[in-house]
Amino acid sequence: MSGLGRSWDHALVNKNKKGAYMSCLICAGQAESIECAGGWEQRQCAQCGCYRMSQALILTMMEEGQIFDTARMRQWLMVSRDSMPVPSIDRAQAILMP
Ligand SMILES: [Zn+2]
Repeated sequence: MSGLGRSWDHALVNKNKKGAYMSCLICAGQAESIECAGGWEQRQCAQCGCYRMSQALILTMMEEGQIFDTARMRQWLMVSRDSMPVPSIDRAQAILMP
């Protein structure tokens, strides 16, 4: 897991620090963690905007060493915001790097 440039090491650290700055789950940039329903992570990223992601999906991706296709994921978020203000990303919505 070292050759990929970025990994999931950043994703779930400082979990108990509510409102602390954390990394974006999509681009690994600096993002704000927003409290939300159980089983979900919500982030406000300067680059990706606001979105919600299933913790089950995050864990699966960590286990499998998968990462998001950042550009296509951002595109999906932009389109989805027309129909929902905070798009939710679960397995069916995840666009992974090939
Ligand atoms: Zn981001």
